[in-house]
Amino acid sequence: MSVDRRAETSGGELVVFEDEYTRLEVVPRFCKDCGICIECCPVEILEAHDGAVRVTDISACTACEQCELRCPDFAIRVTRKKKRPKNQQEQAGG
Ligand code: SF4
Ligand code: SF4
Repeated sequence: MSVDRRAETSGGELVVFEDEYTRLEVVPRFCKDCGICIECCPVEILEAHDGAVRVTDISACTACEQCELRCPDFAIRVTRKKKRPKNQQEQAGG
């Protein structure tokens, strides 16, 4: 099951997008809304929202880590919890 679940910790310091396969954390106060991660995401699931980036569909995330690697401000962290089944990756990739 792919669930786009998000949770916020105290003070809104960390915004979490996760399903059973992938966890992606954004620290809004580190994000300068430069758009680099949005441009580099191969499945186009990142977008600007209220001055920081957010994930539109975590179930499509391939955990490629491009967003984390390219972010100049360490505002994104990606954790692959377990390998996503291939049929889900194909759906995600279009
Ligand atoms: S690359 Fe980093 S700083 Fe730039 S929009 Fe993405 S998360 Fe924010
Ligand atoms: S890990 Fe890859 S697929 Fe997932 S949001 Fe980041 S760039 Fe996109």
